[in-house]
Amino acid sequence: MSNPRILLLGPPGAGKGTQSKNIVDTYGVEHITTGDALRANKDMETEYGKPREFMEAGDLVPDPVVNEIVTAALADADGFVLDGYPRNMSQAEFLDEHADLDIVAFLDVGREELIKRLTGRRVDPETGDNYHVEYDMPEDDAIADRLVQRDDDTEETVRDRLDVYDENTKPLIEFYEERGLLERIEGDQTPDEVWEDLRVAIEGAVADDE
Ligand code: ADP
Ligand code: ADP
Repeated sequence: MSNPRILLLGPPGAGKGTQSKNIVDTYGVEHITTGDALRANKDMETEYGKPREFMEAGDLVPDPVVNEIVTAALADADGFVLDGYPRNMSQAEFLDEHADLDIVAFLDVGREELIKRLTGRRVDPETGDNYHVEYDMPEDDAIADRLVQRDDDTEETVRDRLDVYDENTKPLIEFYEERGLLERIEGDQTPDEVWEDLRVAIEGAVADDE
């Protein structure tokens, strides 16, 4: 299969990071994630202020900052999985001008489950891998001991981020549906079940294209 160009769409906590890892391991494509890039540059001075100021409030970082991150990453990528971008209509239109997509996979998960997933999320600072206090702790104690909680995974900020998603990002579902790119994946299953459905959808979309 030629290098797929995949967009993972879904609310915070839907499993985009978790499934991106499967995609990278299976297809060897580039993982383009604005969230990780911004976390690594939280205190960067931009003409709008520091990314940290927006992220800690659960708000979107201004479009020119994220668009620049994505432009640079796309220039180096053949196939890719986009995770956490675009998050509003203006970013989607920008992306449209800079890349072709094979599939937009929408990970569909209900709000209460998202709150449980996000407040229980823990991150390995060395690898960036995501775990969960109830659903998915590492077997290795050395890894378990070094896990941290993201600043924005507190219940209050999580609710704000879900509201920001409903207002800004949700309309993209229809945008990609109209373009015939959208595949809805039942995200409220085990990670392995989600991956199985996602893999089948990706392979179907790329086969249709060839
Ligand atoms: P996103 O990148 O969409 O915000 P993550 O992949 O970081 O989401 O997942 C959010 C949290 O939910 C993490 O703690 C992760 O371990 C957990 N998680 C991911 N997929 C599932 C799933 N299918 N079932 C239960 N928990 C999951
Ligand atoms: P999640 O796990 O909630 O999907 P991310 O790691 O993707 O979170 O994003 C964390 C924060 O980084 C967001 O709440 C937002 O402040 C900022 N961010 C990430 N991607 C974008 C984007 N495409 N546009 C604007 N802000 C973004």
